[in-house]
Amino acid sequence: MKTSHDVVIAGGGLAGATLALILRRWVPGLRVAVVERFPLPETHDTATYQPSYDARSTALAWGTAQIFESLGLWAEMSRHATPIRHIHVSERARFGATRLHAEEHQQPALGFVADNRWLGQCLTAALRADSAISWISPADVASVHVDADSALIGLDGESPEAELRASLLVVADGGRSGLRERLGFSVSVSDYRQHALIANISTSKPHDFVAYERFTDRGPLALLPRGNPERAEGRAALVWTLTEAEVADIQPLPDAAFLSQLQARFGWRLGRFTQVGERHVYPLSLSLVQQPIRPRVVLVGNAAQSLHPVAGQGFNLAIRGLVGLAETLRDAVSREEDIGGLSVLERYVQAQEPDRQRIIGLSDGLIRLFGDRSGPLEMARDAGLVAMDLMPGLRHWFTRYAMGIGGRRPVPPPRKPEHV
Ligand SMILES: Cc1cc2nc3c(=O)[nH]c(=O)nc-3n(C[C@H](O)[C@H](O)[C@H](O)COP(=O)(O)OP(=O)(O)OC[C@H]3O[C@@H](n4cnc5c(N)ncnc54)[C@H](O)[C@@H]3O)c2cc1C
Repeated sequence: MKTSHDVVIAGGGLAGATLALILRRWVPGLRVAVVERFPLPETHDTATYQPSYDARSTALAWGTAQIFESLGLWAEMSRHATPIRHIHVSERARFGATRLHAEEHQQPALGFVADNRWLGQCLTAALRADSAISWISPADVASVHVDADSALIGLDGESPEAELRASLLVVADGGRSGLRERLGFSVSVSDYRQHALIANISTSKPHDFVAYERFTDRGPLALLPRGNPERAEGRAALVWTLTEAEVADIQPLPDAAFLSQLQARFGWRLGRFTQVGERHVYPLSLSLVQQPIRPRVVLVGNAAQSLHPVAGQGFNLAIRGLVGLAETLRDAVSREEDIGGLSVLERYVQAQEPDRQRIIGLSDGLIRLFGDRSGPLEMARDAGLVAMDLMPGLRHWFTRYAMGIGGRRPVPPPRKPEHV
């Protein structure tokens, strides 16, 4: 059986599912299908494995919350999204520190922390509720053949459809299924030789809605506020960057020994670390596809670029790109252009490139800057952190990036998230 769609999205993770909903909102006439390898998680079912909606928490920038608000999703998402009202950036064993505050920007939050499983539940509930989006799952995009008029997409899996035809294929597979390589995209990968160890931590002091970013001699460590959106609790999401050898030593430690190592790295700003949940590890690299388009194919999300999570920017960058793609397709439809045509996709890439380069440069630059242990650079970093703390203009500029509103691209429909 062969079904025709305007847009087929390969991958229904954070980027793919969000794109389907953005397209419905921005270009309602398009026929959209999402092909996802794993079955949709049942509502409130946290046991089903899904690689995008897993045990991680995601720091959503203020601008990202605005995008979800514009899709009508934020009221639900924000029920379990903890506001970040302050960000504290420091370097272990050095004196410099910078503090960013939401109130300086007349907003109630710089961003929000939400569990990926919860984000998955909200997104998939919205997809289920929209009968105009075809959700094809469990199924794998196994092959793609592009001709002058369409992309022919071969599926493996339990779906009755064996082949789809689309004007545009959006690859949102996280870059992990080999699809982009089979389509001839060249990917540059720079291995950081680091892993992110994530876990939920309980602390004796409440977080007071502060996100901590601490650079240590072994790599950055973030503790993000978690739990009740209304009341500061002693709960935090840990993202701890370690080398492979350190991960092998630290991940299996008994809880008390693990917490004492973490305490020694982080210090006492959150009081005593009292409990640690299950630990998961992610290898870290910067992978980048310079030109993420081909006729009738575009890569988005992690398939286009995956970043170090140090600044919590991967998904926040991706979602701005998804809005940009929807805007480009909306304009193409209104001009009666072919939405899979290279000239249309080139317009999209051109508009996104400055944001992409800035955010990749920022994330990668932070790792390299704070990874250098030479004396002069350490002093320069101290001076930089202190200067940022003291200079409102510099702090303002940096905070706008953290809020996801620093680039030239404005985020869409300007309704504020109300549920903070
Ligand atoms: C430790 C860590 C912490 C992070 N923290 C943050 C943060 O705080 N803020 C932030 O903005 N970003 C953060 N990120 C980045 C963020 O997680 C990614 O940007 C985001 O997950 C990318 O989503 P994606 O949908 O592109 O890819 P994925 O999440 O990998 O999803 C890909 C989907 O495609 C499906 N799939 C794969 N192959 C196929 C196929 N052939 N056919 C059909 N389906 C397929 C998969 O099953 C999956 O559902 C973090 C990343 C890490 C590793």
